Amino acid sequence: MVEIMRMTILASGSKGNSTVVASAETRVLIDAGLSCRELMRRMAIAGEDPAALDAILITHEHQDHVAGLSVLARKLHIPVYFTEPTHRAWVRQMTPRSTITYAKWLERVQQEKEERAARVAAEMAGDDGSGDLDSSALQLAAAAEDAEEAAPAKSKADPASLPAVEYFQPGTGFSIGDLLVMPFTTPHDAADPCGFVFESASERQRMAIATDLGYVPPNVKAALKRIDVMLLESNHDLEMLKDGPYPWSVKQRVLSRVGHLSNHATAEFLANEYDGGAEYIVLGHLSEANNAPELALLAAEEAIRERGGLLGNRVLLARQADPLDPICL
Ligand SMILES: [Zn+2]
Ligand SMILES: [Zn+2]
Repeated sequence: MVEIMRMTILASGSKGNSTVVASAETRVLIDAGLSCRELMRRMAIAGEDPAALDAILITHEHQDHVAGLSVLARKLHIPVYFTEPTHRAWVRQMTPRSTITYAKWLERVQQEKEERAARVAAEMAGDDGSGDLDSSALQLAAAAEDAEEAAPAKSKADPASLPAVEYFQPGTGFSIGDLLVMPFTTPHDAADPCGFVFESASERQRMAIATDLGYVPPNVKAALKRIDVMLLESNHDLEMLKDGPYPWSVKQRVLSRVGHLSNHATAEFLANEYDGGAEYIVLGHLSEANNAPELALLAAEEAIRERGGLLGNRVLLARQADPLDPICL
């Protein structure tokens, strides 16, 4: 049986991340870090049908991973998978901090009450009935229906409302259709960040997404075994970051153990820990200010060359500005 698994990287970098992973029967989007419109545009360019997506999975709540999430999920009417802490952090982020006073709030409630009453009164005025019991019962029912109709409209206005939310836990696998998903914890300064390994139902093909991590801890090393297509972070060149435009505090954050992987750290992983089995290694989340694609590529290719026998590994660069061609197995 020919099984097809596919990864289409729509965008990768600190200005937005989003990737489609597809198995024979299931298609998911990992992160939605561009506007809904731009994500739709890129899916069209890459030949991915948005209507065929089954779910959206979120690695963590940073803006470059969730910018278009709510609009896209509502448009496609598909569930969003988060860890519970990530979902909570995202909701907090999406809910504008309310600074109104109690008096203002009371005023608003009163105003809404009056509007409702006015609507019911208008309906009653339009009714030519004699105001007998039956017709007032009808009016009450109509008012109740109005209230029900008003409720979904209200939840639509809630920026954090989603068609459906599913929770997963890092370290515990789950399935979406015929796609097996194994989330793993990553060291990064977010509420509950994770990466993913995706496996076809036959367990013959495996793809991984591992970006936004300060270093490669043992659990990530273990997760990245037997991977056929690996999207791996190669965020910055150490020299460029040190000499670059970022303020010291931001440099410290990027360099920290909950920041991002440098070209050097990625090369070190590839040279010393990686099992060499991938058909494709895609370097991603490259910093535009503190990296150059050719430096990232050079470091990774050198690391692989040192391993001698790994010539079968193709190294690609994910891009920020436009999608990569789908990578098919
Ligand atoms: Zn990121
Ligand atoms: Zn991040």
